[in-house]
Amino acid sequence: MADGITHEKYILYATAATLVGSVLLYDVIKLEYLIAANVGMLSNVFINSDIDQDGVVLVELRTAQLLTFFVPRGNFKNILVDKFIKLIKIFLAPYSLWWKHRHYLTHTPLIGTLIRWYYIYLATWYIFLRPWLTLHELNVIVFQDFQLVTVVFLTFVSIGDFIHAALDKFEFIW
Ligand SMILES: [Zn+2]
Repeated sequence: MADGITHEKYILYATAATLVGSVLLYDVIKLEYLIAANVGMLSNVFINSDIDQDGVVLVELRTAQLLTFFVPRGNFKNILVDKFIKLIKIFLAPYSLWWKHRHYLTHTPLIGTLIRWYYIYLATWYIFLRPWLTLHELNVIVFQDFQLVTVVFLTFVSIGDFIHAALDKFEFIW
């Protein structure tokens, strides 16, 4: 089984490839789709299939590090990273407690991608956006106004999930 570091390494290769492809296609494809593709691929560094685990996984640490990016290194930063990890675990608890680790509904590319991101989407709306936007209003923005951006984003997240699943299955790759 590939570990978190190995997963991350391959996602970074894929992100580099996506970036190179974007530069080559810069004149052909609208910038918003190129951004969606790159953000989608890079997002696999911070959120991936392994958030179905009860324990802390590397992507959760990376998210906490991202959220404290501008805090100078030191004791305070370490404490803050720890607090963010706890908050992330609470945020993900319904998801990670519901599925067994490597359940086919968390680790099958595309299906797993959609379930995971729909959970994050709903939870983010419920916790952060509900006072300002109804779910219907948010749905209109994400699935109508920015429909193709959303599709491109999820496609590249899903490519990351394919890479993840392949690494989990075939040890000889790395
Ligand atoms: Zn996995």
